[in-house]
Amino acid sequence: MSPLFRSRLLWVLIAAVVVIAAAPQLLPPYQVVVLNTVGIFALVTLGIVLLTGVGGMTSFGQAAFVGISAYATAYLATTAELPAALAWLGGNPWGGLLAGVVLTLIVATVLGGVTLKLSGHYLPLGTIAWGISLYYLFGTLDLLGGFTGITGIPPLHLFGIAFDSSPALFVLIWGIVLLGVVATLNLLDSRQGRAIRALNGGQLMAESMGVNTFRTKMVAFLVAATLAALAGWLYAYTQRFVAPTPFSLQAGIEYMFMALIGGASLVWGAIIGAGAVVYLKEALQDVLPHLLGKGGNYEAMVFGLLVIVLMQKMPLGIAGALARRVTALRPHRGAATTQIAQAAPLARRPAPAPAESILEARGVTRRFGGLVANHDLSFSVKAGEILAVIGPNGAGKSTLFNQLSCVDTPTSGEIFFRGHKINGRSARDMAGAGLARTFQHVKLLPTMSVLENVAIGAHLRGRKGVFSSILRLDRSEEAQLLKEAEQQLIRVGLGAHLNAEAGSLALGQQRILEIARALCADPCLLLLDEPAAGLRLKEKEGLSQLLSKLRGQGIAVVLVEHDMDFVMGLADRVMVMDFGEKIAEGLPDEVQANPVVLEAYLGGAE
Ligand code: ADP
Ligand code: MG
Repeated sequence: MSPLFRSRLLWVLIAAVVVIAAAPQLLPPYQVVVLNTVGIFALVTLGIVLLTGVGGMTSFGQAAFVGISAYATAYLATTAELPAALAWLGGNPWGGLLAGVVLTLIVATVLGGVTLKLSGHYLPLGTIAWGISLYYLFGTLDLLGGFTGITGIPPLHLFGIAFDSSPALFVLIWGIVLLGVVATLNLLDSRQGRAIRALNGGQLMAESMGVNTFRTKMVAFLVAATLAALAGWLYAYTQRFVAPTPFSLQAGIEYMFMALIGGASLVWGAIIGAGAVVYLKEALQDVLPHLLGKGGNYEAMVFGLLVIVLMQKMPLGIAGALARRVTALRPHRGAATTQIAQAAPLARRPAPAPAESILEARGVTRRFGGLVANHDLSFSVKAGEILAVIGPNGAGKSTLFNQLSCVDTPTSGEIFFRGHKINGRSARDMAGAGLARTFQHVKLLPTMSVLENVAIGAHLRGRKGVFSSILRLDRSEEAQLLKEAEQQLIRVGLGAHLNAEAGSLALGQQRILEIARALCADPCLLLLDEPAAGLRLKEKEGLSQLLSKLRGQGIAVVLVEHDMDFVMGLADRVMVMDFGEKIAEGLPDEVQANPVVLEAYLGGAE
């Protein structure tokens, strides 16, 4: 049987199609109307799951994107005053769809370009600002009917079919929701998807692995905006009337509630969340007046309280709480759905000649104000050589490491990588050139599998983008990337843990995982920041053996280390730093016997 038919996803899809076709015939008419609303909300919420739940970017402005598209659709469907050049867009639902999506994407590109570079609270605040301004824009433009809106939108006709009744619209709306879910799942299960998932808590790491994080944020943002635009188009033809209120900031906040209540980290949390909020509000509207014996806006208050209790009881949302109990509901990605056994190996860069000079520092000096953290450091490393940089705390090792890895730039002096000056280049550039690193404080994505964490290291060895991922045209390349990750994990001795959650590994194994991830970039130089910190003796021995093996395969290694014993048995050469200066350099035995070094280490506040 082909893997396609063995895949659980396919059967879920077939079941979904059957349910969507049958439901409007079987359900009471009123439920069909309510579920149409749920479907439209679910589409918007799906974008929030991608943007906020997965990518870690908070947006309260999705309702405004729905509004742009709904208004564009409504205007084009009703106006008789289009200029001749645009007449083809008028009175035609495809014109409305095109205009809605394009206009939304233009606005999203501008807003994203301004806000996505900012960190911290600026993005959510920016989304609030545009949520408010677009709402008043809708209400103010005479063209759009002011606060009374646009009425008289004709029923939707597509392919000669009239979508003029709730059951017909149900099939269209939920068909689009299903496509949206499949597209989002496909996107997440890809090279681009790994980059999006890395945005949440791993941006520095992702940049060092060659991911353009700004571009990746933009991708997630534009996909979410597209889903909102589709929802706006459906909304206009479902209500046949648009006014500003459903696109207000308050609506934007409610979409966020839907995502959080449903479970923002899981794609189907969007549907659960939209359903939960709509039905909860319905129930409160029905029940509360009976309970309290009087009218009033009590349901809004009770709704708010229930939202707080729900989030307190289920921080991962309803979907998250269910997935914790039922394994089958957890996302199912990577090796399990991709055939990697027959994948062709990825192209490799030409290996450096034996003893080729890989890294050279000349007079590197770094000042922080008056403090000279690195003073006039010169050294070099050849292919197949391990250089250890040691020194007491505060000696300037991390400062040096940051400059070598292009996270920081020397105040003066030069750094050459394979003969090219790299001062001022970005960490992302250097990842592509074959300089790979690990982090002093392990940086991995704890809920992602070991295999996928490592595959991020191979990001620049793939080419496929968003559209290929969504349409699943990336499968052979994806298999190659995952196979590379698998092979590097086997190379470092973690082959037994491919599908474990990275966060479940012991610290020693997590550090080795980082080395495998770095190796996925096909590097000629590995920069390791305190790789032995926090490791037990056995783990240190394992790490030491691994690094010796990699040296034997021609890789140059620079490791910055506090632990003198660890480097003595391993390094070819040792450079000792104290107070930003090089105080000694040589073979491990020479350095160890050097009185100046002993003084710095033993006499200092070790
Ligand atoms: P090590 O890694 O050897 O412990 P560091 O490179 O972290 O040492 O620090 C060397 C010196 O530079 C210390 O005195 C530290 O306080 C200072 N330093 C490091 N980074 C900065 C910075 N970004 N701004 C100001 N001072 C810094
Ligand atoms: Mg340090």
